[in-house]
Amino acid sequence: MYLSGRVAVVTGASRGIGRAVALALARAGADVLINYISRAGEAEAVVAEIESLGRRTKAFQADVSKTKEASALVDFALSHFGKLDILVNNAGVTRDSLLLRMKEDDWDTVIQVNLKGAFNCTKAAVRAMTKARWGRIINISSVIGLTGNVGQANYAAAKAGLIGFTKAAAKELGSRNITVNAVAPGFILTEMTAGLPDEVKKRLQERIALGRFGEPEEVADVVVFLAGPAARYVTGQVLGVDGGIAI
Ligand code: NAP
Repeated sequence: MYLSGRVAVVTGASRGIGRAVALALARAGADVLINYISRAGEAEAVVAEIESLGRRTKAFQADVSKTKEASALVDFALSHFGKLDILVNNAGVTRDSLLLRMKEDDWDTVIQVNLKGAFNCTKAAVRAMTKARWGRIINISSVIGLTGNVGQANYAAAKAGLIGFTKAAAKELGSRNITVNAVAPGFILTEMTAGLPDEVKKRLQERIALGRFGEPEEVADVVVFLAGPAARYVTGQVLGVDGGIAI
């Protein structure tokens, strides 16, 4: 199988894109640690699905924006599975409002979870990957990090920051055979986008070349590709999975 014998940590894997990524990695042969922050029941449901595929798995609660919790997450993966090959920094939140009305707390939370969370988990994971001389780090950015968006100054800054982080880390870690790439999804059908008003959804859809929103599984397939041997000479890249909205 494409990812046989690999061990992965997926942050924010209780639902949405993270859940689809965790399941796709498991289907490709990897053992997967499921991170979540609050929805234990949904995380355990993902664990049950992965167990039924015959892979090793576990759920682990951690707020990735907290340095100690992120490092406990990685330590648990190393002690439970014996190693860590693939890290998917997927956990993310939005706190949308126009810049003039944006509360400092909304700015801080979005930067802390989306950007600092990826830094925390990557920093914790890199030591073991460096020793093993093998690693795959995949950061879930967003098309908003490339284009910006009204009402999302905090989110756009965090997701653009993640792209800079990806490129710097790819340069630093390449000599250790660790690749670092970003995926930039467009509008994907999850809870994060479920609340968009119909009018906004309709306008967005008109700008998507493929004429529809994406499914979480369509992002997951690209993450699996980046995690495996077919992508061994790909690093520091930002792969759009957006139906053509950014063209
Ligand atoms: P979602 O359905 O809202 O799920 C968010 C996930 O992140 C949940 O598993 C949640 O855990 C977890 N999470 C939130 N805060 C966390 C924290 N501090 N520590 C650990 N886990 C935390 O989101 P999604 O739509 O699947 O998005 C996943 C990623 O893709 C995000 O980074 C998002 O920015 C990015 N993205 C999404 C879209 C889209 O259209 N949906 C487009 C581009 C990029 P609980 O379930 O325990 O709360």
